[in-house]
Amino acid sequence: MKPELSVVIPIYNEEAGLAKLFARLYPSLDALGIAYEIIFINDGSRDKSAAILAEQFRERPDVTRVVLLNGNYGQHMAILAGFKATRGDITITLDADLQNPPEEIGNLVAKIREGHDYVGSIRRERRDTAWRTYASRAMNRLRERITHIKMTDQGNMLRAYGRNVIDLINQCNEVNTFIPALAYTFARTPTEIVVEHEERAAGESKYSLYSLIRLNFDLVTGFSLMPLQIFSLLGIVLSLVSAALFVLLLVRRFVLGAEVQGVFTLFAFQFFLMGVLLFGVGLVGEYIGRIYQQVRGRPRYVVHAILEQTSDQSVEPVPSRLKG
Ligand code: UDP
Ligand code: MG
Repeated sequence: MKPELSVVIPIYNEEAGLAKLFARLYPSLDALGIAYEIIFINDGSRDKSAAILAEQFRERPDVTRVVLLNGNYGQHMAILAGFKATRGDITITLDADLQNPPEEIGNLVAKIREGHDYVGSIRRERRDTAWRTYASRAMNRLRERITHIKMTDQGNMLRAYGRNVIDLINQCNEVNTFIPALAYTFARTPTEIVVEHEERAAGESKYSLYSLIRLNFDLVTGFSLMPLQIFSLLGIVLSLVSAALFVLLLVRRFVLGAEVQGVFTLFAFQFFLMGVLLFGVGLVGEYIGRIYQQVRGRPRYVVHAILEQTSDQSVEPVPSRLKG
C-alpha cells in the first residue's frame, strides 16, 4: 500500500543515538494514525550504523526502508537519494540526532494539509554552540541578500515537502546543492512554522568548520550569480578610482615635482588590492569547480543496496556483511 507520509533521515556515524531515535520516532508516527514509511539513508557510516539500521528494518519491515550508499556523499546528497525512494504525498526530512523532535512531525503534516506545498521551520531556541548559532545567523542574513530566498532559519532540516516539490527536486541533477533552498525555488505556497530544537542526543556534529564553509558556498553559488557581479562592479569602480588617481599624480608631478615619499602606503594599498584580487580569483574558482563537477556527469551517489519489503510481503535478505 502506498503510504501518505514519507520520512527521510540521513545517517552518518550515528550508532550512539539511533536507539533513542527509534524509541521516539516510531511511537510519534504511529500516533498520527496515517500510513507512513521511514526511509533511512546510510551515508557510508564507518561505525555500526548500517548494521543497526538493518536490525531495525527486521524489527519494523512494514514501515522501514533503508537505502545504503557505498560511500560518504554528505547530508544533502543522502537526502536526495532518500527523496528518490519516497512514495508518500508528503515528505518530511529530519536529522538523526534528535535535534529535530519527531513529535513535531504532526504539526508539519497539519500545515501541508492546510494547502501548503512546502513547510520550513524556525527553531524557537537553537541548541547549538554559541559560535555556530552566531555565525549561522550572520550567514543567514548575507544569504538572504545574495539569493533573495526568504528563509528565516536556513539551517534547520525539519521540513515538509509536497509531492510536486519532491518530483521537481528529483528531476534536478545538481552535484552541489542545498535542499531547503532548492525546495523553496519550486514551491508555490511555502510557509514556515516555529519548532522546538534540542541538543544532540548522542555523538558529535558531523560538520567541521571547513564543511560548514563548503556548504555555505554551495548555497550561495548554487542559487546566485551576485558574487561574480559584485566583483565586476568592484573592478569598474577600482578602475575609475585608479584613473582619477593617475590624473592627480600626473598633475602633481608637474606642479610640485617628483615625489618618493609614501612608499609604505603604496605597499599597503598594493597588498590590499592583491587580497581582493586573490579573493576574486578564488570565487571564480568556486563556480568553475562546480561547473567542472557537473559537466563530468558522474553518478552523484551510488546506492549499494536497498532494504525494503517486496510486494509479495516477504522480507528481502539482508546482505551478510551488514549483520552484527
Ligand atoms: N549527515 C550525513 N552525512 C554527512 C554528515 C551528516 O548523512 O556527511 C547526517 C547526520 O547523520 C545527521 C544530519 O546529517 O542525521 C545532520 O548532521 P549533524 O547533526 O552532524 O549536523 P548539525 O546538527 O551539527 O548541523
Ligand atoms: Mg545535529
